[in-house]
This record gives sequence, C-alpha cells and structure tokens, in this order.
Amino acid sequence: MLKWLDILKYANNGTPQPKNKVVKSESEWKQMLTSEQFHVTRLKGTERPFSSEMCHLFTGGRYACICCGSLLFDATEKFESGTGWPSFTQPIEENAVSYVKDKSYGMVRIEALCNTCDAHLGHVFQDGPPPSCLRFCINAVSMVKVDPNLNKVTFGGGCFWCTEAVFQHLEGVVEVVSGYSGGRTKNPTYKEVTSGMTGHAEVVEITYDSHKISLYDLIIIHLTTHNPCTLNRQGADTGTQYRSIVFYRNEAEKQTITLAVQEVQASMMEKIVTEVQLFEMFYPAEAYHQNYFNQHAEQSYCQFVIAPKLEKFKQLYKDKIVKNQEL
Ligand SMILES: [Zn+2]
Repeated sequence: MLKWLDILKYANNGTPQPKNKVVKSESEWKQMLTSEQFHVTRLKGTERPFSSEMCHLFTGGRYACICCGSLLFDATEKFESGTGWPSFTQPIEENAVSYVKDKSYGMVRIEALCNTCDAHLGHVFQDGPPPSCLRFCINAVSMVKVDPNLNKVTFGGGCFWCTEAVFQHLEGVVEVVSGYSGGRTKNPTYKEVTSGMTGHAEVVEITYDSHKISLYDLIIIHLTTHNPCTLNRQGADTGTQYRSIVFYRNEAEKQTITLAVQEVQASMMEKIVTEVQLFEMFYPAEAYHQNYFNQHAEQSYCQFVIAPKLEKFKQLYKDKIVKNQEL
C-alpha cells in the first residue's frame, strides 16, 4: 500500500515504469477525445466540482484512463470526500499512476498522471482515510468506469465480415466491432488496409462477459471457425490483411491464448501459423462494414463464403449460441 512518503519519493525520483508507454501527438489526442477530456487530460485542466455523476457512484468495478484505457483505480478504494471530485485512497497498482511536483498557483502540490500515457488526472493529498491516509482527487472526465466482468479481446482470421458474423451469435458476447489492428498506419481506411501496405489485419474487437464465456473458449472457437494454418490467406482472400492473428493485453492472456493454440494444434494436420501479439491499438472500420452479414445476407460473398462458415460454427457450438436466435 502506498503512503504519503512513497508518493513524495516517487515525485522526487520517478515512479516505477509502467508495463508499456503510450505516446501520441497533440493532434492525435485531439482527434480521439472530446474538447473537455482534451482540456483536462492533455492541458492539465480541472473540471468544475460536482459536475459529474461519477462522484456519487460507488458500485463495483474499475476505473480506466480515458486516453489509453489503462486501469487506474478499483471501486473498492473509492470514498466520499465531499470535494465534488471522485476520490480514491489508493491506485490499482503501484505503477498505475505517476507523480510530479506541481508548483502552479503559488502552491506545491503533487500532480497525479496516468503512468502509461501521461494524462493529467488530478492531485494527491495526505488527508485521506486510513490506512493509507491518501486522497487521490481525480477529474471524472479523465476516467471511464469499466464493468468488472467485461473484457475485450481482438483477433483476426480473414475477412472481418465473416469473423463478426460468427461471434455475434455467442452467449456472453456483448459487442463485436469490425476494424483494423496490428499495423503501423494511424486511423487507416479500408482502402489503405486492402492495399496490404499498412501492416494492419482485418480484425474484430469483442467485448465479452467473462462470467458467461472465457477467453480460452473464445480463442478455441476462433481457431476452429477459420483456417489458422494458411499464412496470409483465408480461402480466396490473400494478403497480410487476412492473416490469422490474436492479440493479448497482458501476460496472463498470452498464456491462456498459447494454451488454446496448443489444444487446437493437437487436432490439426498442419502447423498453426496464427500470430500471437501484444495489443496496441484497434481502429474501428467504417460504419458500412459493421454488422455486414446481417445487413447484406443476399450478397453472393455472404451467401457463398460467410453462410457456410456460420453453418459449420452452428454445428460445432450449438450449446454456446444465444438462445432464441435464428441463424
Ligand atoms: Zn492513460
């Protein structure tokens, strides 16, 4: 548990390094954030006290950085300070928040920043409740509340229209978004990705309820509903944008994914070539790509390529499909 002396030590000598660093230009942050979020997080602004419902929110869950999504605080450390800003007694990890001496306005205060992306969060004071006696006074706009059971996984296995259509039917899957990941180009367009020059793969980002479906099961389903043994190709679709790939967000996920790959490999004649990579960024695809199969079921690609895959999926995973849903 961090105490005031630790905070001073970190402010003087630097906070332990985060797992990864997210660095973006001012214009990139501007594109991603609302003007208020940008003002507070990137220009060290302060929101009006009592301006957010988050002050009075005490349900379970975690709070993540609005800029980079890194987890910052757990709801169990949140308390009613009466100040009008969400207040916590402890960060979620020792290296989640970084600390800097702030001498603005003729005071010396300790500024709290996201250690991953340097977003300004607020300040830390030594008048919090025991045992840490710390009060992290945080701007609500610099955070987003994360449901404790909702997790994300991002993977690709050829054309994202197909992958999306499969995962939309699973019990426990809350949202499926088609997009691009794993490449170099920022905010790529579909046209750029299909050129194969951006390094991105067509992927889906799945939000799932880990109480209803596990990451392990999702990976097994993914690996058995596309061909993970063909390099940079899925049926007639060829190019690195169609490569088989799974992204992990931490070491535990990497281990789970590796185990799932080994499990599926045991029943395969050929070697699985699926890339397992650290997740960095996901760029949602253009609106007309979302929910594609359901919107364009009559199109020949949907009828001849996606529909048979869905049929195979339906046979394999009868017990995991959302009840009352017609395929
Ligand atoms: Zn951040």
